Amino acid sequence: MIINSDGSAERNFKESVCFDDVLLKPQYSDIESRTEIDIGNRLGGNRYRLPIIASPMDTVTEYKMALALSRNGGIGVVHRYNSIEEQSGIIGRLEMDPEVWTVAAAVGITGDYLERSQELVSHGADLLCIDVAHGHHILVKEALTNLRENLGNNVHIMAGNVATLDAFNDLANWGANSIRVGVGGGSICSTRVQTGHGMPTLQSVLDCAQSDRDALLIADGGIKTSGDIVKCLAAGADFVMLGSLLAATDESPGEVFTNTHGKQYKVYRGMASKEAQLAWRGSTSSMEGVSTTIPYRGPVGFILSELERGIRSGFSYTGARTIEELHAKAKFVRQTSASQVESSTHILRRN
Ligand code: IMP
Repeated sequence: MIINSDGSAERNFKESVCFDDVLLKPQYSDIESRTEIDIGNRLGGNRYRLPIIASPMDTVTEYKMALALSRNGGIGVVHRYNSIEEQSGIIGRLEMDPEVWTVAAAVGITGDYLERSQELVSHGADLLCIDVAHGHHILVKEALTNLRENLGNNVHIMAGNVATLDAFNDLANWGANSIRVGVGGGSICSTRVQTGHGMPTLQSVLDCAQSDRDALLIADGGIKTSGDIVKCLAAGADFVMLGSLLAATDESPGEVFTNTHGKQYKVYRGMASKEAQLAWRGSTSSMEGVSTTIPYRGPVGFILSELERGIRSGFSYTGARTIEELHAKAKFVRQTSASQVESSTHILRRN
């Protein structure tokens, strides 16, 4: 808030854009085949073929999803909404497996998080994800400091979520190797409705990408298409984190059920939804998420292949062979609400 010399107050609103507000300009390309394009990226000591990370949610990532992501070239972060024994058991099974390069697990910032982290690392975790809704917080600073003191520098620490450049820089200074960017944008999220706080995920990515720290930027929340993934990467993200796009598959936890019309569904829920809170701690506090069902979609490998094809195609429209080239070359334009309609498959809107 700016206070003028006459005492009147002026609010300084920052403009921000979300995925559907922008498009990427098609540019000259000398890429003759999409096989020339490498959409992968490095995290820790490894290079990943796909810049995709599965979200640590109890309807997205346990053993099967983490394994499937690894086999398809990405990473799955095993959620923390279970006992230490259950989570470290899953981590131990993944550590067996030669196809899993990064064994990744989420932890919190209160209660048994230090014991949990130590146990996970002793079972083979080499990435810990400090997984909280408001990452720009003193408890995250304390947790990062404690984890570094107790676990050293060999463990990759991902932390978040944050929405602003200040927060991104702080978390990097506190010791995070990668940072989840996006507050309030998740498909199952009601944070913005409940609290009035948040930022469009794409704007947060654009802002945080201005950082001169060497932490990786993980765009997280609200990504609904391969086009949104390309926009995140073009805006400066190194990886994207996906929830709904990977949910309701063979590899996501939970049962498939059939409704009276014969359609098959699986549950997908926010970890701050009433249903998830009751399931993992038996009570509720602030409810900032919802639980829903989405149509069952079969093996996650098909979804990942489709996303990969869309991302490759996206790189070729900018003429970029790598993520670094996409970061350097990408040009965004804003679209009006009329052009948003034209950008969709608008024949489906006609009668
Ligand atoms: P989606 O890919 O749009 O479905 O969003 C997934 C992301 O939403 C996760 O990676 C988390 O960052 C976030 N998230 C998960 N559970 C909740 C919740 O209950 N409330 C708000 N955000 C959530």
